[in-house]
Parts: sequence; structure tokens; C-alpha cells
Amino acid sequence: MLVLVASLLLLAAMLGVWARSYWRIDLFYNSERRGITVLVSSRGRLVIETQQSNNPIREGPRGWERAAYNAAGYSDPLSVSGWRFLGFAYEPTASESWWGRAFAVPYWSLAALLAIVPIRRLVRRLRLRRRRRLSLCLNCGFDLRCSAARCPECGRPVLAGEDTP
Ligand SMILES: [Zn+2]
Repeated sequence: MLVLVASLLLLAAMLGVWARSYWRIDLFYNSERRGITVLVSSRGRLVIETQQSNNPIREGPRGWERAAYNAAGYSDPLSVSGWRFLGFAYEPTASESWWGRAFAVPYWSLAALLAIVPIRRLVRRLRLRRRRRLSLCLNCGFDLRCSAARCPECGRPVLAGEDTP
């Protein structure tokens, strides 16, 4: 039950982030001496961009910072030249003094991954409930109405007042 609740909460949080990305652009960036890492949550996906400088950056702040923008008027950090598929994207970026790469991961794929656990748990729960109601073996679904101590199909002991683990 705890796993089901936790996985549902995670999924709900993911759906929230996904929805928000259409009206707010969230930007997290980490400045280091030799480059920057930028995480952009925008229009249904997360873009991770890293850039390395050929010359160490001497000025400016270091460490993680956060910014948020209105979605309207924000241009996509990935151009159309790179590889893209179903919202996934990859693109190397370079200029005279910088080189880097950008990945995009669509939120639908993360939501699908996070939905696997709760869906499997729910299916299992419904199946066990049905088997208990119909007096079927909880393990294999064999009809136990004429069996006393053990399932003749899979050998599982039949216990009175059995509950879901
Ligand atoms: Zn059985």
C-alpha cells in the first residue's frame, strides 16, 4: 500500500511538472570554472544542456541557480539540426570558444515510466480481490471450492482469512 501511494504521488508530481512546463519555463543552471550545465523545463520536456569553455571563466557566480520565465516568447534551446524522435532530441552545440551538447527528454516518457509501478500494483490488487471473492487460488487462479488445505494446481496452502501482502 505504501509503495502504491508513494508511486502515485511521484506520478502526480511528474504530471504537475509536465503541465507547468507549458506555461512556465523553469531553468536551473550550474556555473563552474570550465563550463555550465543548464536544465530547462519547457513545453512538455526537460532539456539538459552542457557547455564547456576552452578558456576558464573567471567572472560571474558559481553554483546552482534557478530562474523562471513565462512560456510565451521563450525560444526552444534546441534548433532543428539535431537528432529528434517523439520529443527526444540530441544535439551537439559548438562555437569558437564553446563546445557542448543538449539532450531533451519528453515528460510523457518519464510519466510512462512512473506509471508502471502503480498500474502493476492496481492490476495485482484487482486480480487478488477477484480471486478471493470467487474462492480461487490467490497464486494461480485455480478453483478451490472443492479443495481443503492445498491448491491442487500449484500446491499453495489455503489459509483462512487470507489478506494481501
Ligand atoms: Zn494454485
